[in-house]
Amino acid sequence: MSEPNLQGGCGCGAIRFELSEPPPIAGYCHCTRCQHRTGGGSSVQARIDARTLTILKGQELLTAWRHPDGGFYKLFCSICGSHMFSRDPSGNSNQMSVRFAAFDGDPGVRPSYRQYVNYAAPWEPIPDDGLERYPESRARPSLR
Ligand SMILES: [Zn+2]
Ligand SMILES: [Zn+2]
Repeated sequence: MSEPNLQGGCGCGAIRFELSEPPPIAGYCHCTRCQHRTGGGSSVQARIDARTLTILKGQELLTAWRHPDGGFYKLFCSICGSHMFSRDPSGNSNQMSVRFAAFDGDPGVRPSYRQYVNYAAPWEPIPDDGLERYPESRARPSLR
């Protein structure tokens, strides 16, 4: 098996990042916030510890928005709009996610769950792939 790819960036190349450790877990999110920001039925992302993430360039171009109902900050490139990360808004938390397609190659980890399946888009049925399903958030039941 080849080494996992732990570098990545946005579509226009202005933002580049690197992880010091392979992501431990990954999953799909079917929440309506992810549907809006991706323009698709779900988002696939790796959960990471923020302390393993280094922004190599373009830090000043990372823009964050937060849904009025709460949830993680959603960070994207202010030039090309590529979605890159999400981050727990509480200052003492290191919980982050990296959007899978932000990696240059294969980050190694595979999605093992689907969360917010109660909000799945009616036009895209959830595939019968055997992954663990959570009606709401997998990790933080109070946040969407
Ligand atoms: Zn960009
Ligand atoms: Zn989501």
